[in-house]
Amino acid sequence: MKRRRTLDTKLNELRARLAEVYDLQAAARVLDWDQNTYMPPGGGPARARQLSTLERLAHEKFTAAEIGQLLDGLRSYEESLPYEADEASLIRVTRRDYERAVKVPPSFVAQLADHTSNSYQAWTVARPADDFAGVRPYLEKTLDLSRQLAGFFPGYEHIADPLIEYDDYGMTVATIRALFGRLREQLAPLVQAITAQEPLDDACLRQEFGEAQQLAFGLEIVRRFGYDLARGRLDKTPHPFTTEFSIGDVRITTRVNGRHLGEALFSTLHEAGHAMYEQGIHADLEGTPLGGGTSAGVHESQSRLWENVVGRSRDVWQFFYPHLQATFPGQLGRVPLEAFYRAINKVERSLIRTEADEVTYNLHVMLRFELELDLLEGHLAVRDLPEAWRARYQRDLGIAPPDDRDGVLQDVHWYDGTIGGAFQGYTLGNVMSGAFFEAALRAHPEIPAEMAVGEFGTLHGWLKENIYQHGSKYTAAELVERVTGAPLSIEPYVRYLRGKYGELYRL
Ligand code: ZN
Repeated sequence: MKRRRTLDTKLNELRARLAEVYDLQAAARVLDWDQNTYMPPGGGPARARQLSTLERLAHEKFTAAEIGQLLDGLRSYEESLPYEADEASLIRVTRRDYERAVKVPPSFVAQLADHTSNSYQAWTVARPADDFAGVRPYLEKTLDLSRQLAGFFPGYEHIADPLIEYDDYGMTVATIRALFGRLREQLAPLVQAITAQEPLDDACLRQEFGEAQQLAFGLEIVRRFGYDLARGRLDKTPHPFTTEFSIGDVRITTRVNGRHLGEALFSTLHEAGHAMYEQGIHADLEGTPLGGGTSAGVHESQSRLWENVVGRSRDVWQFFYPHLQATFPGQLGRVPLEAFYRAINKVERSLIRTEADEVTYNLHVMLRFELELDLLEGHLAVRDLPEAWRARYQRDLGIAPPDDRDGVLQDVHWYDGTIGGAFQGYTLGNVMSGAFFEAALRAHPEIPAEMAVGEFGTLHGWLKENIYQHGSKYTAAELVERVTGAPLSIEPYVRYLRGKYGELYRL
């Protein structure tokens, strides 16, 4: 009895300390959300300092010696519990994160947060102005800080490995290169065969569409998918993202292009996929390291599943297209469903990753991954990055950006975080989305027919049951194995692409 009471006390103390860390991190996310949505430019310098302070405090609290002692004291208790138990998972995952965090000094965490915030603000000015020179000093410092961060973790095979581990625990440069190599072998001939044909016509998407109607329509779709608006909201931003302040407040953002219907629509579906994952985490896990999605890859599997596998399917638009036509009768009233379906699935060699079609998308990701490795390895200097970017686009996609705005400045990642570990999750997510959706269809073959009548409860419920509710209890590899019954394989995803685009392009 006494031993049990001591353990309860220790576990409660651990939870209380972790909740403080979570609250500081959530407060930082509120400031970050504000910086990315409504903050006037004058707020910049103070905001960088405030974010830096909160990140440092959270890091100091999380790496306190008392947390290490509590984890030590709970080790035999953890070992007495089943692996899947919430408490065992809490101790296991907290220890894993703690052992990583104590290697990084709080002063470095503060410096990185401060630099990142300033760099982001410089990027928001530089991108519209096509001014790479304006952000180059920031990016050079980011590369320096990224290398320093990796240096706190000696013993890895590749300098990017510890940076990848932050976002995709269990993956390394070697495993990702192998997977990307196999995928590229499958994608290259598919892209070749499709782009050799007459391109599909997407003119119906390239008209004037009112901003308010675009936003309202996207929100209506994601509400039907299962995004809970009592625990979420949609705002505008330069680079769409999702953020969570608690399981009860998970927000999405989008950007609107008044002359292209796809941009706000599909980025809203994408971010809602992220948000439904966070909203679906079991309430008992809130306020702990288990209370968030388990990896960048699994997170992207959910955003890409809802955006593409569901959101660009013929089934879904059988239901939504008449509503879309009613919203934009002048633009789409005379455009048949099949023409719209083909327009939203047009495959082309293009410049912008976030707007790329499903078939070429991973080529955009792979070249960024390679550039990150070149920068970290010291084979590429930041000043040569714009030219290297153009050369890779020419090589892999047969098209090169006319400027840096749609070249090396297009993605926020390197300007709002570290270099290393930023991009692999997108392709890992695509691959996982194929595997997860195939497993969902095995369990519930009725899902496509339900989507065609605007019903998403079976799919959403299956994802919640099998993926969302677990938060970070399982690593990505464990989750894939549990959900699909096999280790991660590119095959289901390649089958999906071949099936869909084979039909669209009569391959
Ligand atoms: Zn995403």
